[in-house]
Amino acid sequence: MSDVRNVIIIGSGPSGYTAALYTARASLEPLVFEGSVTAGGALMNTTEVENFPGFRDGIMGPELMDQMRAQAERFGAELIPDDVTAVDLTGPIKTVTDSAGTVHRAKTVIIATGSQHRKLGLPSEDALSGRGVSYCATCDGFFFRDQNIVVVGGGDTAMEEATFLSRFAKSVTVVHRRDTLRASKAMQERAFADPKITFAWNSEVTELHETDGKLSGMTLTDTVDGTTRQLDATGLFVAIGHDPRTELFTDVLELDEDGYLKVDSPSTRTNVPGVFAAGDVVDHTYRQAITAAGTGCAAALDAERYLAALA
Ligand code: FAD
Repeated sequence: MSDVRNVIIIGSGPSGYTAALYTARASLEPLVFEGSVTAGGALMNTTEVENFPGFRDGIMGPELMDQMRAQAERFGAELIPDDVTAVDLTGPIKTVTDSAGTVHRAKTVIIATGSQHRKLGLPSEDALSGRGVSYCATCDGFFFRDQNIVVVGGGDTAMEEATFLSRFAKSVTVVHRRDTLRASKAMQERAFADPKITFAWNSEVTELHETDGKLSGMTLTDTVDGTTRQLDATGLFVAIGHDPRTELFTDVLELDEDGYLKVDSPSTRTNVPGVFAAGDVVDHTYRQAITAAGTGCAAALDAERYLAALA
């Protein structure tokens, strides 16, 4: 059993590394579990990030995360590229178990485990991610100026992405499995009124086509009669939902109806004293690197104040 740390941070995206930077600079000697396969978080899977302030010419996602990691480490954060497999958050001393079964103890825990966007599950989808396939219109819409774009989904997010993308695109086709949308009436009406948006009802994207390593089109299959048709499009935005990574916390922490951690907003306090949460594991509205970093900072400050009050 280890000594009791001031703070353990679970997650190494923009929120986890920012919480690490702030708690390290406050001399709290944070221990950070980065995750075994996805250390650095969601931006490790992308190419150019053009909307993180401070990088006028943009920066590659992995490079941005390397910088954040190095900055946290420079001030003494201890970083471990391993997964947390179990937690006990109930008492004043929390325990966090790593993949080797070692138990780590701390007075506070910051959860920054992010969320996973749902994929279509098509064979070349991962290879074409960042090369025509995207999961975030706010992040990537700008790259698709004057192109034919497909948005998959029928909820509010899909309608929001379609109307946002129509500002840049030559055309936007919304592909939806059913013949009615789940989106709110207001969002539907806005999409229906947009002259650049058309709908492919009762349809699924079943194959992606590539040319020179980039998306060049796709096959749509009719969900009613099974017929197929080809669609020329160089952009595909998948908007079929996200799954927050909260499976370790379901017994103790309050979650909302979609499985995201609930915090006492605008603070990052969860329902358990000494446990804080930040980034996309809490946020299903903004989902940006800068907002995740912002709440990571808030979680560090909340943890710092909690520890000060214990002393
Ligand atoms: P994440 O970045 O998802 O990090 C979560 C971390 O938690 C991961 O490191 C994971 O390994 C770790 N973790 C999870 N479970 C465990 C566990 N049990 N033990 C240990 N570690 C664990 N945003 C922008 O602002 N601009 C962009 O251009 C942009 N482009 C994007 C492109 C893509 C392809 C994607 C997917 C997202 C993009 N985003 C962009 C969104 C942005 O990446 C996210 O909003 C941001 O990364 C969320 O940060 P986070 O710290 O909350 O979580």
